[in-house]
Amino acid sequence: AAPYLQVTDLQVHFPTEDGLVRSVDGLTFSVDKGQTLGIVGESGSGKSVTSQAILGLHRGSRARLAGSVRLDGQELLDLPESELRELRGSTMAMIFQDPLSAMHPYYTVGAQIVEAIRVHHADVSKKAAKERTKELLARVGIPNPAKRVDQYPHEFSGGMRQRAMIAMALANDPSLLIADEPTTALDVTVQAQILDLMRDLQQEFGSAIIVITHDLGVVAEMADEVLVMYAGKAVERGPVDDVFYAPQMPYTWGLLSSMPRLDRVRQARLDPVPGNPPSLIRVPAGCAFHPRCAYREHVPQDRCTTEVPELLPAQQSDHLVRCHLMEERRRELFETHVKPR
Ligand code: SF4
Ligand code: MG
Repeated sequence: AAPYLQVTDLQVHFPTEDGLVRSVDGLTFSVDKGQTLGIVGESGSGKSVTSQAILGLHRGSRARLAGSVRLDGQELLDLPESELRELRGSTMAMIFQDPLSAMHPYYTVGAQIVEAIRVHHADVSKKAAKERTKELLARVGIPNPAKRVDQYPHEFSGGMRQRAMIAMALANDPSLLIADEPTTALDVTVQAQILDLMRDLQQEFGSAIIVITHDLGVVAEMADEVLVMYAGKAVERGPVDDVFYAPQMPYTWGLLSSMPRLDRVRQARLDPVPGNPPSLIRVPAGCAFHPRCAYREHVPQDRCTTEVPELLPAQQSDHLVRCHLMEERRRELFETHVKPR
């Protein structure tokens, strides 16, 4: 059967006065129900734009979209806005980094979740929706839901607000959940609690989940598969264990080198990879990562600066990498330069 979400050769380009911004440039991936995909990369790598494109949030903007986004077999890119709006908040839901920006300050948390339910289920009474809201608040670990339901967002702590937003996202049992930096604004202890909660909910609800993050600790905790993005493209993709223990692409090495012993460590933070992310208007020729890559002299004939590498199978067929290094040389470099750190 086809995967639940299939994104194929997605492009999101924004025309600007300075030129065309290629935010997403030929991205292909899929996620099944019950599966979590982690999309990781620096800011500006195209990961948030990807999730917005799936949700159809670029409608009416100047963005040029191409490729295909199929959800349960249905093409979303040319779906009428009214049908897309029907899917958003019901079949597809989103958890944002900053609940305050997603919640209205003048309405109680309960009223907003009730509204989220009734927008998609006009036949549910306010009373029934409020009962369901209390259940949801309890389910995401908010103590005393009967009182909390009538409080305003500013009366919640950051962690409780994030729980409330997860409750809102779950209000209509979404089968695709997209979480964009879901724990970035929270302190470390609360982050761990929210990740635990999301993992529990994943098992309970079995939705397809996309977690977008710059934090490899979050990916290690949550994801089954990882997609590493650089300059709008996938540069490495594969099962989380393969990517963590046998990363193939020098950019991924850079991302991982801040993680002690390349081990799965909760809350490991990223050190920035040296150098700056590229311009998305004048993307470097060849491999977009080449200005920052310490290993390109290991590729003969200057191919790194002239030839765009393809995304090809590495060791296993489901582990893909976009890099000109020969497999043997890559393994050797990883063993001698990267792993011992
Ligand atoms: Fe580095 Fe070349 Fe591989 Fe790009 S293709 S990551 S520049 S070695
Ligand atoms: Mg972002």
